[in-house]
Amino acid sequence: MRNMKRYLSSILGLMLIFSLIGCSSISENSKKTVLSRPAESNQSTTKKAHQPIKNTISVDNKKSTYGNLKVHYINVGQADSILIEQGSSSMLIDAGNNEDSNTVKNYISEQGITKLDYIVGTHPHEDHIGGLDYVIKSFQVGKIYMPKVTSNTKTFQDVVSAIKAKGMKVTLPIVEQTFKVGSATATILAPNSSGYEDLNNYSIVIRVTFGNNSFMFDGDAEDISENEMLSKGFDVSADVIKIGHHGSNSSTSQAFLDKVNPKYAVISVGKGNSYGHPHKSTMEKLQDKGIKVYRTDESGTIVATSNGNDITFNVKPGSYTYNGTGTVVSKLNTSSKNVVNIPITKTKISSNVNIKKVYFTQKGKSYHYDKNCSTLKRSKTILEGSKQEAISSGHTDPCNICAGGN
Ligand SMILES: [Zn+2]
Ligand SMILES: [Zn+2]
Repeated sequence: MRNMKRYLSSILGLMLIFSLIGCSSISENSKKTVLSRPAESNQSTTKKAHQPIKNTISVDNKKSTYGNLKVHYINVGQADSILIEQGSSSMLIDAGNNEDSNTVKNYISEQGITKLDYIVGTHPHEDHIGGLDYVIKSFQVGKIYMPKVTSNTKTFQDVVSAIKAKGMKVTLPIVEQTFKVGSATATILAPNSSGYEDLNNYSIVIRVTFGNNSFMFDGDAEDISENEMLSKGFDVSADVIKIGHHGSNSSTSQAFLDKVNPKYAVISVGKGNSYGHPHKSTMEKLQDKGIKVYRTDESGTIVATSNGNDITFNVKPGSYTYNGTGTVVSKLNTSSKNVVNIPITKTKISSNVNIKKVYFTQKGKSYHYDKNCSTLKRSKTILEGSKQEAISSGHTDPCNICAGGN
């Protein structure tokens, strides 16, 4: 059996090598798109009538007026949380798991921030919005962007409650809409449709430009969303990409990576995580293109600083080692089985594709693997979520009948 596996993986390896060779003409094309970057940034300058005034000021004293753009990829283990600062403005993209609430809040406070101009909850998975309720409670908040999709997890409900308690409303992302974070420009590039099978594809994808530098923040967007951005002809080129879905093989398609054509890739991923992130195929694509990789599992919090022309990092690049080698086919099978997405109506949606779902009730102390477990029969409202979510909200006992408790 093992020999068979080895045999298969060597064939897969060969196929990959051939496909990489076959792609050399594509990377030629991608170089062309990079050349067109200055023209595109000119376009965006002409679109905004007020910008030229700012530009004339910047010529005199660019450094003091503009300062730097700082992007903090906060180490939250197997999760995402990114703080972006420019001038006196800031944006937080995701806030890690529930258990990262303090880490994220303290990190933001340590930067001297009391107001977050923008908060983006890329999609309703716990590893992205877990700490969001605490952050919303802890800071002044300008706008909160979240995609038009709901989840019945406690984590999601907590975020909604925190927003309501502040008397705020969620702003839905509109693709191609731009907003300013200081003098940096953020553009929303996804999601481009609804009714996705996988919650990950609802991820709000944002591209931030600052002077001649650009950054892509991909949330957990998978190949489906990547293809939509490409087919819409969006400018996805970036010096730094936050690799989609923690380096999973469901994201970072070759065509997308070629178009983004980054110098640097950041992977937010937990050490020794059980999901096989980052995946072999992702790491090989990055290595093949000579893209420097920074990863939170190796370096902790990663800070990229741009002065508008050059980008520096607080740590040395990491390795191309990977954690998973599973095939795409098996992943597609599981995602279509476990996930039901209803875009507008508030119907049940599973919490996390990759994490085994558990079921629990508001008042009960147990968690269940089986939604139809006999002990749940009398409960009207059954909540679902990851085991971590269940435990962190006081449902610490595995059910004797369905979850191997005793
Ligand atoms: Zn995630
Ligand atoms: Zn996700």
